[in-house]
Amino acid sequence: MTAPASSSSSSSSSFLPGADGWVPAARRVPSPNFDARPDGMPVDLVVLHNISLPPGQFGSGDIEAFFQNRLDPDKHPFFATIHQIQVSAHFLVTRSGELVQFVPCTQRAWHAGQSEFFGRARCNDFSIGIEIEGTDDVPFTAAQYNTTAALVRALRAAYPVQAIAGHSDIAPGRKTDPGPHFDWNRFARLAGVAPNLLPYRPSHD
Ligand SMILES: [Zn+2]
Repeated sequence: MTAPASSSSSSSSSFLPGADGWVPAARRVPSPNFDARPDGMPVDLVVLHNISLPPGQFGSGDIEAFFQNRLDPDKHPFFATIHQIQVSAHFLVTRSGELVQFVPCTQRAWHAGQSEFFGRARCNDFSIGIEIEGTDDVPFTAAQYNTTAALVRALRAAYPVQAIAGHSDIAPGRKTDPGPHFDWNRFARLAGVAPNLLPYRPSHD
């Protein structure tokens, strides 16, 4: 018993990046914080993060401002400490499950920082970064799991993705996101991701 396929933005095809690296289902908020990937570098890692600005608050629009270098340092004490940092991610999944894209997948976004994936340093070179709006302290929403899973399915169809990791996996001791509330098993089930694509997760049988 299957419902008719939805023609909304949640259909999987619209999550497929075009040749230009932009995803049709995403709202585009271009960030200037990107550069070229190294020549011939395959895109074979997806990195999941969480972010909230101000910390613990959702829906302020400040994440978009941060990735566009227009965060107001006077709006919140924390912003005064970070507003000059130039960072980005390819994607943000908001609490309602909306997909926002800042950098085309073909380019290198600046999300991972100092990082290492099984001996390969500088994970930004070969990864796609997805920020999920949230914190280490609260559960993510069902809509966020659905959107993140649909996006990862499409990214796997477009690029030779070999693994999906958390920021905390590739920058241990420095980063804690996406945090203890991110349900990797739920995500894997929705995204159709086999355990071998989650090298940092203990597999359950
Ligand atoms: Zn992160």
